[in-house]
Amino acid sequence: MEWLDPGRCGNLETEKQMKTMLKAFTGLLLAVGLATTASAQRANNALPFPKSPLKSASSQEEIQKMKKGNRYMQVCMECQSVTVKEVADDKEVEALCHDGGPIHCPSCKKKVKVKRVGPPGKGTAPRTKREIIYVNEEGKECMFIVPIKEE
Ligand SMILES: [Zn+2]
Repeated sequence: MEWLDPGRCGNLETEKQMKTMLKAFTGLLLAVGLATTASAQRANNALPFPKSPLKSASSQEEIQKMKKGNRYMQVCMECQSVTVKEVADDKEVEALCHDGGPIHCPSCKKKVKVKRVGPPGKGTAPRTKREIIYVNEEGKECMFIVPIKEE
């Protein structure tokens, strides 16, 4: 029974652990991959102005980076309008990422709703990034915010 030494048993145990880790890692990659695909699709859908080099803010973090006095574009896909606004106060930024809160298009006066979306498997991945979209009454994405960076 010389082959059944503790070292060999240890290796078998390690191999089992490795497989479990690999499985978890693959799951994580899959979740990240899905999230990336979703963002890419959204970006493609939100291209009424394809030549624009500006990037829309898709996460709560990006929106909250805006401070009083910063300007941003409110792009409405319902009426194909772009409104440049200036952040009046912190409450305005808060309203822009308040889940379920209403935002009005300054041009067509339509009401859109702030919706927070998380990547698939929310709560299991440590790097969960909250994204924010603006939807109309049918739940279709119809508006996005583009912060204007001023140096
Ligand atoms: Zn509009």
